[in-house]
Amino acid sequence: MLRTDFALPEANLTDLAIPAKPALVDPFGRAIRYLRVSVTDRCDFRCVYCMAEDMAFLPKRDLLTLEELDRLCSAFMLRGTKKLRLTGGEPLMRRDVMTLFRRLSRHLRSGALDELTLTTNGSQLAKYAKELVDCGVRRVNVSVDTLDAAKFRLLTRRGDLALVLEGIDAAQDAGLAVKINAVALRHVNEDEFIPLTEWAHERGMDITFIEVMPLGEIDGQRVDQYIPLTQVTGNLAERFTLEPVAYATGGPARYMRAQETGGRIGFITPLTHNFCESCNRVRVTCTGTLFMCLGQEDAADLRAPLRASEGDELLHQAIEAAIARKPKGHDFIIDRATQMPAVSRHMSMTGG
Ligand code: SAM
Ligand code: SF4
Repeated sequence: MLRTDFALPEANLTDLAIPAKPALVDPFGRAIRYLRVSVTDRCDFRCVYCMAEDMAFLPKRDLLTLEELDRLCSAFMLRGTKKLRLTGGEPLMRRDVMTLFRRLSRHLRSGALDELTLTTNGSQLAKYAKELVDCGVRRVNVSVDTLDAAKFRLLTRRGDLALVLEGIDAAQDAGLAVKINAVALRHVNEDEFIPLTEWAHERGMDITFIEVMPLGEIDGQRVDQYIPLTQVTGNLAERFTLEPVAYATGGPARYMRAQETGGRIGFITPLTHNFCESCNRVRVTCTGTLFMCLGQEDAADLRAPLRASEGDELLHQAIEAAIARKPKGHDFIIDRATQMPAVSRHMSMTGG
């Protein structure tokens, strides 16, 4: 049952100009505060762990329009979402995505939203960094798995590392706090965990290592890519003195501090550590499908209620019904016997 026994403070909703609605709380008592929205499934890269070389992208008509994305995000804010992350695919590849950022920024000004942020591959950051700051964005996550330009091109199947590094420069110059995301990959960046961390910390950036997750069919086998993060920590401990820190961003990462640099290192370990108990997140795809858990197939269509009427009542009903089904957790597994992806959709669809 959905808890409806408390409403959101009126003051937070001035800009939304609609009566307060009950906050969204799932059957396990977790309030939904964090929404991740994939604004496009397209990308200018084809990272080997994320996509197949010949990905078939969705027809444009299936995507939510920017107006629909705005309505959908605003509906979640009315129900208690305080943090919104736009992702993809590559969010900065969506045509006119800045219009969406600009519109959503009104919720930062009104206080309905605490944080508007994005996860990007960085290729378009040089172009958009200043505008993002103007829209109230203060932090960005940029994915960099290797600092070797040749390896980077192979791994992304087309990316230009220099362009991404320029993007990071532009973001920092514009005043954005940058956090680096690096997926730990066997035979790819095993020798770079220390250099990547040194580079990030020298530039005042946190870095988070991510275990590769079994999402979507790719060319090749996950078991060949997977490294448990215990191996990453073991490797980092040869160079850094790691101390646990209480820092939390509302995301699933657990943080350590490297005493030598003073910088933070995050670890996202969906496979070796169950991070579900405190999960306050849900995800929406660019077609308006709401996933209550990254690692489960159950989903709810929000596009039909969005398109069925100009008002948002049907949308709210669909969101409530879906949150009432949010599962307790996922059960990812990667091993030789289980070579099928845990869920069939790619990370670029649900958004990382
Ligand atoms: N294109 C943007 C980017 O690369 O940052 C945003 C979308 S991408 C899907 C978000 C994050 O998911 C990236 O940090 C990426 O490395 C990570 N990712 C993609 N596929 C993954 C997988 N199978 N397992 C773990 N992380 C994955
Ligand atoms: Fe594109 Fe990001 Fe997936 Fe790489 S990880 S292919 S940059 S969506």
